[in-house]
Amino acid sequence: MAISIDHDLCNGCEKCVKVCPYEGVELKDGKAVLNDRCTACGACIDACKEEAISSDIKEREIPDFTDFKGIWVFAEQRDGAITRVTFELLGLGQSLAQELNQELSAVLLGYKVDHIIEELKEFGAQSVYLAQHKLLTHYQTNPYAKVISEIVGEHKPNIFLIGATTIGRDLAPRVAMRLALGLTADCTELSIDPEDGSLLQTRPAFGGNVMATIKTLYTRPQMATVRPGVMEAKRIDAPSRCRIIKKDVNLLSKDRLTKILEAVREKKKGVSLTDAKVIVAGGRGVGSEQGMKSLFALAQALGGEVAGTRMVIEEGWLPAERQVGQTGQTVRPELYIACGISGAIQHRAGMLGSRYIIAINKDERAPIFEVADWGIVGDLHEVVPAFTRAMGNRKMEREG
Ligand SMILES: Cc1cc2nc3c(=O)[nH]c(=O)nc-3n(C[C@H](O)[C@H](O)[C@H](O)COP(=O)(O)OP(=O)(O)OC[C@H]3O[C@@H](n4cnc5c(N)ncnc54)[C@H](O)[C@@H]3O)c2cc1C
Repeated sequence: MAISIDHDLCNGCEKCVKVCPYEGVELKDGKAVLNDRCTACGACIDACKEEAISSDIKEREIPDFTDFKGIWVFAEQRDGAITRVTFELLGLGQSLAQELNQELSAVLLGYKVDHIIEELKEFGAQSVYLAQHKLLTHYQTNPYAKVISEIVGEHKPNIFLIGATTIGRDLAPRVAMRLALGLTADCTELSIDPEDGSLLQTRPAFGGNVMATIKTLYTRPQMATVRPGVMEAKRIDAPSRCRIIKKDVNLLSKDRLTKILEAVREKKKGVSLTDAKVIVAGGRGVGSEQGMKSLFALAQALGGEVAGTRMVIEEGWLPAERQVGQTGQTVRPELYIACGISGAIQHRAGMLGSRYIIAINKDERAPIFEVADWGIVGDLHEVVPAFTRAMGNRKMEREG
């Protein structure tokens, strides 16, 4: 056992029991004992003021990483068009690069994708690692993981960021596994530790009940996937010169374990929530699926999309992909209208980046008003239709 408890020193205070995230310590006859749920994480050691708990695990030496330099962003493209999360990651990368005084680079894979470089430069890339090959035309796990691992292994970046999209979530663990790296998936916040310059990677843990901040101590690059919609894209006014580093690609047909026969695109109704400029969101206060209709009418009048809280999704009034919040989507529209939403912290986590927030709630003390730019205290079943009518009248006035 790596952790041991000295029962002569243990005073049965239970601090270790309370602090253990795995319920791996319990009290027996007034003394703390470990059970088989203990993972030897060591949380109890710091909590014990009597110094009764110790570990025989030796601290690993942290290797010297001075060779690893630069912030890299995976430039995800689909059919030759770059995805928005790439610009968001470059926006974040600009801040990280400035803080560390290191270069910001994009890694672009594809076939005949040179036209993308200019856009990457406009959003902050100071260099682009470019790998082009027919087998890289469309994303495929094996060829992409192979090529990226080779480039990362050769050039040794300090930080490597990938969007937590369907592609990113498939690619990142493959690259991490090939290079024996750590990976923090689905981050919602990234910053630099002022003490040692390492990357602080924050993400929801334990089903979203806590936010965990993770450091990659023993491997480089520090790899993280980041949720789309969380970071802000920042276009550069006068981008400086962008270095292009063309990489040779050694891929054979056998490196491709699957073959794309046909791409059938899912027909989506409306715009995705992360791209929507206006979102009308409903909460439990809407009352029923029928009640959602007035929200759809307002969204239509404003050219927006409809979303909801977890309550609304659980009630089945909207499909799961319309959930906003910590365990749903993170959105950044120009306007977010929260109707019958209390403003729980888990919901706010997904919509605080909205430019303007209007809250409609019949309870003037609802926490949503704390984050709203404008608040309407009233019954949404009266306010929302009145809002929609007013929008209709404005439109008629404009059209003469
Ligand atoms: C681990 C975890 C993860 C979670 N993840 C998410 C998440 O991703 N997204 C999310 O949304 N939640 C999430 N939740 C749930 C969250 O904690 C809240 O329970 C939820 O957001 C509340 O939803 P609500 O505002 O619709 O309902 P309520 O909190 O019940 O609020 C309803 C509001 O409607 C108002 N109201 C009622 N009738 C009217 C009316 N006629 N007119 C105007 N106002 C009215 C009430 O005053 C009230 O403020 C999570 C919870 C946990 C524990």
